[in-house]
Amino acid sequence: MLIDVHAHLDLPQFDSDRGEVIERARREEILVINSGMGPEGIEKTISLSKKYDNVFSTLGLSPREFRKGVIDKTKELIGKYRNEIVGIGEVGLDYYWVKDPSGRGKELENFDEFIELSRELNLPLVVHSRDAEGDVIDRLKKEDLPVILHSFSGSPEQAEVAVSFGCLISIPVSLVYSKRKQKLVENLSLESMVLETDAPYLSPIPKTRNEPVNIKLTRDEIAKIKNIDREIVEEITTKNAKEFFDLKL
Ligand SMILES: [Zn+2]
Repeated sequence: MLIDVHAHLDLPQFDSDRGEVIERARREEILVINSGMGPEGIEKTISLSKKYDNVFSTLGLSPREFRKGVIDKTKELIGKYRNEIVGIGEVGLDYYWVKDPSGRGKELENFDEFIELSRELNLPLVVHSRDAEGDVIDRLKKEDLPVILHSFSGSPEQAEVAVSFGCLISIPVSLVYSKRKQKLVENLSLESMVLETDAPYLSPIPKTRNEPVNIKLTRDEIAKIKNIDREIVEEITTKNAKEFFDLKL
């Protein structure tokens, strides 16, 4: 069994064949942790995890959402669905799209609110960071929280720091072509890794839609890089994800 710790199957890119995509994953014994973003994404994600027993939910919000009403509503819904979800996320910082200091300050404030909520509700965090790894790591190292850094794009040194205070690093399928990610995997122990697709994004074939079955390619690429059996990669990364999300399977 494999666990795709981060996907967005609620998005419109899957409207025409969502059921088939999830069935394909099930046939390959793949569990999907779907990340619902904002009030609308949250409701869609919750109904997916109710309908399919191989889909679980984490709930979060885009770091670039600054409207107070939407932030408050999102937090309220996370509380409401507390017992139907396995984590909070994705939440985090995005400095690629937000360059001005006041916007970044606002992102940090929002991130703090979700860190607080994760503590309050006793749920692990799935964190997004884009061009913001330094600040994300600085912020999280003060906390004693279970964290997955999703689609991590920092340096091997930054990954090492994050792992030193207990973070798991999530490896996307773009590993098959990204030299930077291959270098990261080379330097990281299997005990600190989980696997993700971020479907429909980050496809192994650029400009095409990604889906959870592609997680097998990540497993195989890690096995190749580390020169070990893919069964070992599967076993350890699945165990990491199961423990992280406290999945009762
Ligand atoms: Zn995502």
